[in-house]
Amino acid sequence: MTQENGGFAALDLHPNVLAAVIATGYEEPSAIQIQAIPVILAGHDMIGQAQTGTGKTAAFALPILSRIDPAKRQPQALILAPTRELALQVATAFETYAKQMPGVNVIAVYGGAPMGPQLKAIRNGAQIVVATPGRLVDHLRRDEKVLSTIQHLVLDEADEMLKLGFMDDLEVIFKAMPESRQSVLFSATLPHSIRAIAEKHLRDPKHVKIETKTQTVTAIEQVHLMVHADQKHAAVLRLLEVEEFDALIGFVRTKQATLDLAAALEAKGYKAAALNGDIAQNQRERVIDSLKDGRLDIVIATDVAARGLDVPRITHVMNVDMPYDPESYVHRIGRTGRAGRTGRALLLVTPRERRMLQVIERVTGQKVGEVKLPDAQQVLDARIKKLTNSLAPLVADAEASHGELLDRLTADIGCSPRALAAALLRKATNGQALTLAEVQRDQPLVPGSGGAPRERSERSERPDREGGRERRAPVPLSEGKARCRTALGARDGIAAKNLLGAILNEGDLAREDIGRIQVRESFSLVELPEEGLDRLLGKLKDTRVGGKPLKLRRYRED
Ligand code: ADP
Ligand code: MG
Repeated sequence: MTQENGGFAALDLHPNVLAAVIATGYEEPSAIQIQAIPVILAGHDMIGQAQTGTGKTAAFALPILSRIDPAKRQPQALILAPTRELALQVATAFETYAKQMPGVNVIAVYGGAPMGPQLKAIRNGAQIVVATPGRLVDHLRRDEKVLSTIQHLVLDEADEMLKLGFMDDLEVIFKAMPESRQSVLFSATLPHSIRAIAEKHLRDPKHVKIETKTQTVTAIEQVHLMVHADQKHAAVLRLLEVEEFDALIGFVRTKQATLDLAAALEAKGYKAAALNGDIAQNQRERVIDSLKDGRLDIVIATDVAARGLDVPRITHVMNVDMPYDPESYVHRIGRTGRAGRTGRALLLVTPRERRMLQVIERVTGQKVGEVKLPDAQQVLDARIKKLTNSLAPLVADAEASHGELLDRLTADIGCSPRALAAALLRKATNGQALTLAEVQRDQPLVPGSGGAPRERSERSERPDREGGRERRAPVPLSEGKARCRTALGARDGIAAKNLLGAILNEGDLAREDIGRIQVRESFSLVELPEEGLDRLLGKLKDTRVGGKPLKLRRYRED
């Protein structure tokens, strides 16, 4: 395992840092690491420009750890990161690389956690402080001396910090550190504002620039699919049937779209969740952890919420909505193909977005080939393949353990083993369509023109648009039922099962009491028993679903 580490060994890192890197399993330093590590080790100020996923964290963490003095129990290096997640990621990386350096302590400083323990940890001798600018300024207000011993400063994702409005905070922080310190700035882009900061606060910085766009992208297979905007959900579901992914991140443009799509996927049985800026920080971390350890397989995110996210399990990036610019496209697809793995990036393109596709191809210097929506046969083949893969390993020792039971059951039932195996298959596949005719019926092919394929259920996710007025439910009312309406719909992140759950719980009803549930974009219809309806609605008066009042009312069709 170690003979491959000549690359790192040649970099003059502290032996204990080198040992930790080897233990981590890195084989070769990345391009930015090869270039930046000697510069930082030599004590120069530096501006590093490289895309996401190129290994910037180790590029500054390894040389800085090599240069601090573990015996001095005071803050020596400050790393600023734009968000709490990134700060935590960087702090974790430092801890990994410092594993073989007894006495080195790392503290992450960010908003949302109590300040007292953070300040105490800094004063108690953490040598490495990783912080978000806002919270660090709060600390400076309490103790203007906290940063007076800092010798190394890193601004990680500097462009993002400025976008988030941390300019003034950065100025305060710069002033609180010794002028003799070393300053290193990393940024994916170098807009004017970043150059201005560098000019003002860096001394004779060396420039290290890695043209990684093509490099980042080469490990990633990119394809696009032409699709009408109102067919996107159906197209995503269909693609997921045939794509062999481990974990997947899907990008959409709005917070609401993260909720809608994640709910649609969950309803189809995927382990999916939404990630957006409205979701509380600790919940976001839970989502990311779940994606890491396989409790989730799909995360539907906005660009902001997914920034810097590093989950090696991600094999697929799906650009459900077009990114705003080619740069964010490169950022997005950099979520897969991490650390030398291969990944696959899918891009949904609506007819109006063809030009953006061309721009992306030009900027990345690569062709993004076209794929067609899988047809029913391909969906069926994929389903059968999955079934085969899940059953094959079970066959090996099953006969030894259950063969006799099988004999007895076939004798008792009086059927052939084939009949019994078929029955068990039907049970195990739980109603899934597994013949061509059934798949075709379930998933009428998306025609090239308009109409979204209708799901079999009434839970159409399609926004209804008839002259701006929502279409009236065409579904005939079930017998003995009254139709009720709530103003909660798909755009509130509501799925039929949420309504069902809430009404069952709080209405004290049996499942059969509730008829059809139709979730539309901006409202939903639920069939409830006509008998005792007023009492029931009274019971449900204060019921909330997804945090919003349900307010069910009888719905008059005319
Ligand atoms: P960036 O900050 O440039 O987006 P990161 O520092 O987050 O990139 O690194 C991306 C991923 O690559 C991380 O999972 C990290 O552990 C891994 N990595 C970094 N350097 C190496 C290396 N030399 N060999 C293998 N993996 C590496
Ligand atoms: Mg980074």
